[in-house]
Amino acid sequence: MPDAIATARAEGRTLLSEVESKQLLRAAGIPVTDARLATSASEAATIATEIGFPVVLKIISKDIAHKSDVGGVALGLETASAVRRGYVEMLARVAAAAPKARIDGVSVQQQAAPGTEVIVGATTDPQFGPVIMFGLGGVFVEVLKDVAFRIVPLQRRDARQMIREISGFPILQGVRGQPGADIAALEKLVVDVSKFVWKHREIAELDLNPVFAYPDGAIAVDARIVLSAPTEARKA
Ligand code: ADP
Ligand code: MG
Repeated sequence: MPDAIATARAEGRTLLSEVESKQLLRAAGIPVTDARLATSASEAATIATEIGFPVVLKIISKDIAHKSDVGGVALGLETASAVRRGYVEMLARVAAAAPKARIDGVSVQQQAAPGTEVIVGATTDPQFGPVIMFGLGGVFVEVLKDVAFRIVPLQRRDARQMIREISGFPILQGVRGQPGADIAALEKLVVDVSKFVWKHREIAELDLNPVFAYPDGAIAVDARIVLSAPTEARKA
């Protein structure tokens, strides 16, 4: 089976779907929720029954990068019939919000237990090449811009330092009786993402947003990979 990057290139697109992005990351040993594509309500229900409840449904479209903006994320579906209904309602919501978007189907995945939300990202700087970003999720990134950057490739000590550099680091250590996050698992994740983008130089952007960090381990519940434009890839 050709990998998702080859498939996207052959189809002349740069945005990989959540399902494709997670397949590549999983193959590289990066922890992600297993997301499988369903193209009908009954297929979604069958996959959900195999995975185990509760599940999450997300819209899969080459034209949609931010799924919740168009009603394309449904959390906490507890039964096969809720999944069937959720599938139909999601397609209707998305059709209303993004009428021109081409829909490939819906991804079905396990609902991860709540954790501390962090973000791991990669972008390509015109001067420095691939760069890794780490921050806490939600308002910490969006409002406070509390993030740290390092140039790829990262050593473990770079990952250690960048995680400790953000102002919100005490939150990861655990505050007011809240359990801390598994910082060693986050360091490993950052290094593994660095290795991944170093190996796949055709990746222009990667977002693991959010990653749920636990006292023991961490898992990316959303993943988005954007390839560089084909002309740039030829030049490289
Ligand atoms: P978007 O494309 O809008 O960024 P996400 O996949 O990040 O969509 O989903 C939106 C939110 O739903 C996430 O920030 C997270 O809080 C929650 N979420 C998504 N997937 C899962 C999952 N598998 N388990 C638990 N929560 C999830
Ligand atoms: Mg997201």
